[in-house]
Amino acid sequence: MAVQIVWFRRDLRTADHAPLAAAVARGLPCVYLFVYEHEQLAAEDFSTAQLEFLNQCLTQLVQRLQQLGGRLTLKIGRLPDVFETLHREHGIAEIHAHEETGNWLSYQRDRRVRAWAKAASVRVTEHPSNGVVRRLRDRDEWSSIWKQRMRRPLIPEPRQIPPSPDVHSEPLLLAQQAGLPAQQLRSSQAGGRDEAAAWLQSFLQTRGLNYRSEMSSPLTAAESCSRISPYLAFGCLSVRETVQTARATLVRLRQEQQDGLGVDPAWFQSLASFESRLAWRCHFIQKLEDEPTIEFRNVNRAFDGLRENEFRPELFQAWCVGQTGYPMVDACMRFLRHGGWLNFRMRAMLMSFAAYHLWLHWRQPALYLARLFLDYEPGIHYCQCQMQSGVTGINAIRIYSPARQAADQDPQGDFIRRWVPELEGVPDEWIAEPHRMSRMQQDLFGCRIGRDYPTPIVPHEIAFRSAQERIFAARNSLIARQQSSRVYQKHGSRRRSLNDPGR
Ligand SMILES: Cc1cc2nc3c(=O)[nH]c(=O)nc-3n(C[C@H](O)[C@H](O)[C@H](O)COP(=O)(O)OP(=O)(O)OC[C@H]3O[C@@H](n4cnc5c(N)ncnc54)[C@H](O)[C@@H]3O)c2cc1C
Repeated sequence: MAVQIVWFRRDLRTADHAPLAAAVARGLPCVYLFVYEHEQLAAEDFSTAQLEFLNQCLTQLVQRLQQLGGRLTLKIGRLPDVFETLHREHGIAEIHAHEETGNWLSYQRDRRVRAWAKAASVRVTEHPSNGVVRRLRDRDEWSSIWKQRMRRPLIPEPRQIPPSPDVHSEPLLLAQQAGLPAQQLRSSQAGGRDEAAAWLQSFLQTRGLNYRSEMSSPLTAAESCSRISPYLAFGCLSVRETVQTARATLVRLRQEQQDGLGVDPAWFQSLASFESRLAWRCHFIQKLEDEPTIEFRNVNRAFDGLRENEFRPELFQAWCVGQTGYPMVDACMRFLRHGGWLNFRMRAMLMSFAAYHLWLHWRQPALYLARLFLDYEPGIHYCQCQMQSGVTGINAIRIYSPARQAADQDPQGDFIRRWVPELEGVPDEWIAEPHRMSRMQQDLFGCRIGRDYPTPIVPHEIAFRSAQERIFAARNSLIARQQSSRVYQKHGSRRRSLNDPGR
């Protein structure tokens, strides 16, 4: 008898999972398949930390599918070759999957799979994923489609799933076997749906109270932000179930308020901000869906050539390892290298520093950050990297001053001292700009600049002014303005705040 396939990719869950529900409805024996793809394992945006997180997600998926009566089959290889073999051995009647808006490799792979399936007369049914709309006709329609999708009832986890035929499955792939280096990160987050639910619940029950006011400081953000991004990236949670869980919390809190139970009003602001971020998520991924080359090409081509020939590897290297001589930048980079997560504002500052102060083209910094982020999501990532580099033409130009960010977000220098211990003895007054201390002060506070901690790799005022002049000159050119209206038409949010989400 022919088999059907549920092809898991970045949707590693069994609830609110349309392909799984479709397989249950069809009822044929089913191969629940995940493929470690050679190309992805070797890609410049993939890392050991991501593989380990993925394996943790897969481990839980294995258990869940088993409880429902099926078996996850793991394969290592290239697509469509894996399908070809399965088809030869078992005869595939249909492949069920979610639409994926991934990196360029996954885009090309999907095209190969579709072409193969057509030639082999195998039906491929791809279900919409979250709020991203395939073949979107008009950006004006996007927001109402998103709202409509988020309102739709969740697809319940099936009570039982069709049995799996006898198909050989590989064990979980280890980093060493994949040719990846040993794990460096020590993340506080493990992969899997149970962990996803726990992080979401603790956010909605306690941690999220001051989300709105505490999301920007690296001192408070790790606790006050939801931290669900890696779970959304690997699909342990769907966006819709996250939105609906947050809305249910809102309803409960309103009721408690009506009942005079004393609800802190900060909750209402925080939940509103949270839901709008979930919409941003899909808004950004939609851009990559509509224009996959955003991964490696300026969305506004008028900015081509602006930085490409001025890449200075020594500056890039110092930025990568948190040795720029700018304490707030270095602290953030070291924190990220340690745990694989950083809050939005500080990600924006890191990227802005690379693009403006160091005048680096965004592509190499973006790839480096992609490997560090446990929540790497190409659609958000490349759009944000381009935005923070000023090359979209439709977003406000923001050149962050690291000293100003330190003063605003870490006024006593606690975060800096924790992650840049060389500066431990430096008083608050100098912590953001220790190079301004006199030689005597440096000796007094036990930190000689240039020996114990780097001299700033570029001078702030000069780099800032030069970047400002160059980026505004490029942005104000006729060609950039012409291109910008095309970019806005295709990708711009119809809500102004979304074109300028600078929090
Ligand atoms: C240069 C740069 C690169 C980024 N790369 C990624 C990435 O690869 N993957 C990723 O998930 N986010 C990325 N972001 C967006 C944002 O920083 C993270 O989503 C957020 O910090 C994740 O933490 P959280 O889950 O606690 O977020 P919360 O603040 O709790 O937000 C909840 C969810 O909303 C979404 N979200 C929040 N902020 C944004 C935003 N600005 N744009 C789009 N969606 C958002 C995320 O899915 C997030 O999990 C990037 C931002 C910048 C400036």
